[in-house]
Amino acid sequence: MTRETLSLIRHQAFIDGVWSDSHHKKTFSIYNPATGDDIVQVPDMDAADTRRAVDSAHKAFTGWKALTGKERSAHIYKWHQLIVEHAEELAALVSLEQGKPMSESRAEVQVGADYALWAAEEAKRIYGDYIPAHKSNARIIVTKEPAGVVGAITPWNFPSSMVTRKVPMALAAGCTVVLKPAEDTPLSALALAALAEESGLPAGVFNVVTASGDSAPEVGSVLTGDSRVRKISFTGSTEVGRQLLAQSAPDIKKMSLELGGNAPFIIFDSADIDAAVQGLIACKLRNAGQTCVCANRIFVQSSIYDTVIENFNHSMGQLKIGAATDIGTDIGPLVNIQGVEKVESFIQDALAHGAQVKAGGNRHALGGNFFELTILSDMNDDMQCFSHEIFGPVAAFYRFENEQEAVDKANKTDYGLAAYVYSQDQAQIWRVMDGLDYGMIAVNEPMLTTELAPFGGVKHSGIGREGSKYGINEFTEVKYRLLGNC
Ligand code: NAP
Repeated sequence: MTRETLSLIRHQAFIDGVWSDSHHKKTFSIYNPATGDDIVQVPDMDAADTRRAVDSAHKAFTGWKALTGKERSAHIYKWHQLIVEHAEELAALVSLEQGKPMSESRAEVQVGADYALWAAEEAKRIYGDYIPAHKSNARIIVTKEPAGVVGAITPWNFPSSMVTRKVPMALAAGCTVVLKPAEDTPLSALALAALAEESGLPAGVFNVVTASGDSAPEVGSVLTGDSRVRKISFTGSTEVGRQLLAQSAPDIKKMSLELGGNAPFIIFDSADIDAAVQGLIACKLRNAGQTCVCANRIFVQSSIYDTVIENFNHSMGQLKIGAATDIGTDIGPLVNIQGVEKVESFIQDALAHGAQVKAGGNRHALGGNFFELTILSDMNDDMQCFSHEIFGPVAAFYRFENEQEAVDKANKTDYGLAAYVYSQDQAQIWRVMDGLDYGMIAVNEPMLTTELAPFGGVKHSGIGREGSKYGINEFTEVKYRLLGNC
């Protein structure tokens, strides 16, 4: 996998069906996080460029909305087919710009393609309602209308599937989109736009505006401030989500916010310990711990606490850290040096509050953005790791004595995205599921993302859902039609 083999690399943004530079010609670099090499420069777009993209999406909306669901389905299906045909190249691009190993990038592209296929299928099934009326000569009909132009903003940790989780759903509902991908990882979004273009998607229906971190607020201000944009779909940190919500308030926009998490991973003494440890390896270390749903606080019942840590350490020791291009790599680097520094400071804070390092704890000998797989034990509620996302390969273990304590500690956070429970006691499973304040709960399973289910959180983890019938509703508005005297 080299830069030269990637024919889908684009170095321009995509507005109104045309590959475009920023009007002032500024660019910024995209780096390979494993090597620090500069891959390509892309346009650093500003408010004027973003307004141009909104003009284009607004202009395209009337025509796109007028298509039948079946016609929109056919367009999205063609795009999906091209995504599948180019899956290997799209995966290579994810690994190149984001650093995760190819096995994970392939899985990401596959999940993204599944969302696109689901959206293509669902475009034909955005049903309304016929409601028995309040008068004998009246009829009540409810239809679902496209929300309008969507401003979509995505993060760097899943540069491909975060795009395919939003854009095909929005298009299925009849919306048009202006997407701003993350500064670190815009290449996957541009590659998806290239495939959308090849599929014959009409100009202006899907636009991609690239911007550096410095320009992101300017782009965000246009998307939230322009009244032609009727819906914001954001995935990223709670801090930025809160800001976009406030900026959108004057215009009362429809919002979907997929924000940060602080997932508890609870292992009861009734659990199958081997299954729990293998589940924890996948849940904690996937994407080097840089996922919103990864286990952030691992609660283990006292009687099995030492055994779980020992077994986890043994399994973790089998994993190989390296560049995505190295054969056999299981865990890649962190996305940038800020991520490394954040992990270091969390470990220092935990040690200062009484934690012990059972494995790792330092920057990896490979240098750059690589970090050792780390185990911290004797964790408590006063540590930063308890209240904030670690976003790195650090497994932080907390001890609990009984079920109520586990549930109370799991809920002791402002976040409410994903929670994991390992237990073989059916009554306990139901009690704990009922007690957890989370948008998603996985029992004896470490992975819960599927296009078939509603993904999303409560409290500071966000508003709205992606995937399933719940996800598509986020891009529609209900219109009630009363027909009198008929
Ligand atoms: P982030 O800093 O909030 O950035 C997310 C996106 O927002 C990026 O495209 C970023 O652009 C952009 N942005 C930043 N400031 C902005 C502003 N003022 N106006 C408009 N856009 C702005 O988050 P991140 O570090 O990329 O991603 C990690 C976070 O995402 C974690 O908290 C993680 O839990 C969360 N996440 C949540 C989900 C979910 O489904 N709930 C999924 C994945 C990730 P730049 O990159 O240019 O700064």
